[in-house]
Amino acid sequence: MTARVLLLEDDPAIARTVAYALERDGLAVTHSLLVHDARQQLQRTRFDLLVLDVGLPDGSGLDLLRDVRNAAPTAALPVLMLSAHGEEIDRVLGLELGADDYLTKPFSPRELAARVKALLRRAGNSNGHTSAPATTTAPLFHDDEAGQRISLRGQALALTRREYRLLSHLLRGAGRIHSRDALLAAAWGDDSESTDRTVDTHIKTLRAKLREVEPAREYISTHRGMGYCLDVE
Ligand code: CA
Repeated sequence: MTARVLLLEDDPAIARTVAYALERDGLAVTHSLLVHDARQQLQRTRFDLLVLDVGLPDGSGLDLLRDVRNAAPTAALPVLMLSAHGEEIDRVLGLELGADDYLTKPFSPRELAARVKALLRRAGNSNGHTSAPATTTAPLFHDDEAGQRISLRGQALALTRREYRLLSHLLRGAGRIHSRDALLAAAWGDDSESTDRTVDTHIKTLRAKLREVEPAREYISTHRGMGYCLDVE
């Protein structure tokens, strides 16, 4: 099935280049110039990926990103952010708000197409399977490292790439307290622009996703001044 990409970009030259690169790879591209229009598109159509510019004539792509993450149907939608050269703050904010990847302008169309395909592959791995019915024998957590997906009580969690890495790291050291620094290193690698607050933000969204499966239980505990712990007992 053809993957559908929503492209929000107000610079016509960049939009043309991006659309061309993605369509050449067999993807269907819908182009919006305005945040307002992109919102309507997202309500009307189910997209597989969003390519998001930050500075737009009628607002910020970051506001749209926040709303996308907060709405259940699009919470796990892969998002690739296009940040303007020199706008580090946009990139940091974008990642905190849950963008899965970013490219700084100017970028090569080939690079963009490769990143988009990588994101789609990853999403296909986590969404393409129907979740097994929850039974009493289902393991509490199952981490499928090859497919980069985790299920809780047999139900697949819709995780972003960072959330997956965070939860996977917490699971491997379940019962132990992990400092924010250790979690940053595990989920963000050497991306030095991420901060403790980035971890806190992602822990928050992780907790929300775990609660969707099991509302009555808090799996991740906060240890003030020390970090976070995943409790599976
Ligand atoms: Ca722009």
